[in-house]
Amino acid sequence: MLGKRTQKSRTVAQRTLKGPIACTGTGLHSGRKVAMQLLPAAPNHGIVFRRRDIPGDAGVLKADFRAVRDTRLCSMLANDAGTKIGTIEHLMAALYGAEIDNLIVELDADEVPVMDGSAAPFLFLVDCAGTIEQAAPRRAIEILAPIAYSEGDAHIELAPGAGFSAEFEIDFANEAIGRQAIHVALEPAGFRQDIARARTFGFEHEVASLRAMGLARGGSLDNAVVVSGERILNEDGLRFDDEFVRHKVLDLVGDFYLAGAPILGHARARRTGHRHNNALLHALFAAPAAWRWTEISPDTYARPPARASLASD
Ligand SMILES: [Zn+2]
Repeated sequence: MLGKRTQKSRTVAQRTLKGPIACTGTGLHSGRKVAMQLLPAAPNHGIVFRRRDIPGDAGVLKADFRAVRDTRLCSMLANDAGTKIGTIEHLMAALYGAEIDNLIVELDADEVPVMDGSAAPFLFLVDCAGTIEQAAPRRAIEILAPIAYSEGDAHIELAPGAGFSAEFEIDFANEAIGRQAIHVALEPAGFRQDIARARTFGFEHEVASLRAMGLARGGSLDNAVVVSGERILNEDGLRFDDEFVRHKVLDLVGDFYLAGAPILGHARARRTGHRHNNALLHALFAAPAAWRWTEISPDTYARPPARASLASD
């Protein structure tokens, strides 16, 4: 897919949408109908959420890991005015996969619509609108030294590595899920191919208690894989044999994109979720020697890394 490039164009440009595009869907937790509009934004603007039902600055939330407040079941942004937007991670993962740097996400409710529980419908939406290059280089966060976060038997770390890749392991007592491990290259094209379609999942026996807590009211077999004992309740079954661990990678990609730019490095995670992803970013940015800003070049996501030719440069 990479075209021939001259030596002169060694940076990759930032991207935004060609024009606005809209969709409606259901809020996973509220169960209410949500209208979402994606709008182009200027270079270096970043990704910003705007609540159409809350005027002024009180309705504006930057897509920033520092603004994540509630990580029980989804990643939720909140600002000083107390405005919230939940279930942002699958959209953020899609925006990573679409290589979108600058965007305004307008919503008329406190949740991003869940769509089918994966990132694929958002990628489709962005692809329908099309993207354009902007007059600013695309930046990334390059990992320079390992950084880790552990909590009980949950462990996550980021280490230097070519491009962006992840190893993820989950281990559920549930027979339908069990132990699943994956090692996957996460450059945008690889993310689209191997991860974007993996859906969120839940357990039938948890549905009643989640709903009593005001959560998962919009959850259904249309937007989640639902597991009951050793059975998958969805009529069409799974999209991948290991869809569960792939979805955990999807969540990680979306949560990491809240760093403000793509991360370049290798992630290793075991039995982690949104809270740990967020805690790792806090640890990373508290360690200035562990990372640096860099500009993305056409070779950044090339695989495998051309070590031999680098040596003769
Ligand atoms: Zn998810």
